[in-house]
Amino acid sequence: MFNVEHIRQDFPILNREVNGKPLVYLDNAATSQTPKQVIDVIVDYYSNYNANIHRGVHTLSQEATDAYEQGRIKIQKHVNAKHTHEIIFTSGTTHGINLVANGFSSLLKKEDEIIVSALEHHSNIVPWQMLCERTGATLKVIPMNLEGELIMSEYDKLLSENTKLVFVNHISNALGTINPIEYIIEKAHAVGAAVLVDGAQSCPHIKPDVQDLDVDFYVTSAHKMCGPTGEGMLYGKETWLKKLPPYQGGGEMIAEVTFDKTTYADLPHKFEAGTPNICGGIAFGAAIDYMNAIGFDAIAKYEHELLDYATEKLLEIEGLKIYGTSKHKTSVISFNLEGIHPYDVGTILDKLGIAVRTGHHCAQPIMDFYKIPGTVRASFAFYNTKSEVDALVSGVKKAKMMLS
Ligand SMILES: *Cc1c(COP(=O)(O)O)cnc(C)c1O
Repeated sequence: MFNVEHIRQDFPILNREVNGKPLVYLDNAATSQTPKQVIDVIVDYYSNYNANIHRGVHTLSQEATDAYEQGRIKIQKHVNAKHTHEIIFTSGTTHGINLVANGFSSLLKKEDEIIVSALEHHSNIVPWQMLCERTGATLKVIPMNLEGELIMSEYDKLLSENTKLVFVNHISNALGTINPIEYIIEKAHAVGAAVLVDGAQSCPHIKPDVQDLDVDFYVTSAHKMCGPTGEGMLYGKETWLKKLPPYQGGGEMIAEVTFDKTTYADLPHKFEAGTPNICGGIAFGAAIDYMNAIGFDAIAKYEHELLDYATEKLLEIEGLKIYGTSKHKTSVISFNLEGIHPYDVGTILDKLGIAVRTGHHCAQPIMDFYKIPGTVRASFAFYNTKSEVDALVSGVKKAKMMLS
C-alpha cells in the first residue's frame, strides 16, 4: 500500500524549515532527496569498510569490492541488461554521454550524420557538437511542436544510410515530455544507426528494460533517483562496448603496462580508470532497492495524480501558461506568469520555503523555441503531497499579486 506520510518519514530533510516555513521541495528534476536507508549505507561504508577496491588482499578491500560489485549487479537487474559487464560505473549522465561520444571519434567519417532532438539537455547536445567538430560529421535535429513533443514524421525524413547515431532523452527535463523512444530506436536500427538514450529523467519514474527496448546505450545519474551525486551508470550492448576504445587511461583499466605497449582490461574495467566513487556505487544500489521496494508502478500512479491535480490548480490562475502539454508526460510543470520574470517568481517562492527551479534548465534551445528567457519549473516526486501542491499554488498567487 502506497502511503505518502509513511514514505516521508524516510527523508530527514523533509522535516526542516526554510525561511521559517516548512520546506516544500519541488526541484526533484534537478536532484532528488535521499532516504535514510541510503544515508545509512553511506555512513556504514565510511564507518566500517572504507578501502580501495579490486587490488587489496586484505579484508576491508574485499568487503568494499564485493559491495561495489553487488551495486553493479543491482543496476544490471534493474535495467535488465544481459551481462553484468555491460554496466559501466560513471560519475553521472554527463560522463556516460562523453564516454560514448569520445569513443565514436575514431568510428565516424566526414559524410556521417548524427541526429539529436530539439528537447535535449545541454549535456546531450554539446558532446555531440564536439564530436562533429572532431570528425567533420553533421548534426541534425528532430524538431518539436508547441505541445513540446518531437515530430516523428520529421524524424523519418532525417534518417538515411548516412545516419550513424541517434541521441535522444527518454524524458525531457525541461518539459517532462515522454519521448517515443521505442519508435525512435526501431527506425534508427532500420538504417543501421546506433541509439543512445539519456535516461536521467526517466529512471526516477520508470524502470527501463534495455533488452526489450533493444537500445544500444542507456545512461543515467544516481542523484535523480534517491542516490548520491557524482555517481551514475552507462549501459552499453556488449558488442558496442567492445568496439569503442577506452575513454580515460590510468589504473584499474589495464591488463598489462610496459613502455612499449599497454593492453586494456576486459569489460567493464576498460572504461573505469582510476579509483571510482566506491561508496557512490554501493549507495546507488541501495537507492534502487529503496525505490523498488515502494514499486515503480505505485510511484508512477501517485506522481500522475499529483501532476493532474497541480496542472488543474495552476491553470486556474489567470495569466499562467504551462509549457509542455503533451499527454505523455511525467510530473514536471514548466510555467510562466504573463509579464513576470521566472526568476522573480522563484525568489518569492523561496521566501515561502518552496524550492522550484527557474531559468533555461540546461535546455536553452527549448526556451528559444518558445521565445522565452526561461520558466519556473516545479517537479514532483513520490514523497510530495497534495498539500504541498496547494502551498505552491497559493505561493504563485502571492507572487503574482506582489509582482504585477
Ligand atoms: C540532469 C540531466 C542530465 C545531466 O545529469 P548529470 O547528473 O548532471 O550528469 C542530463 N540529461 C538530462 C535529461 C538530465 O535531466
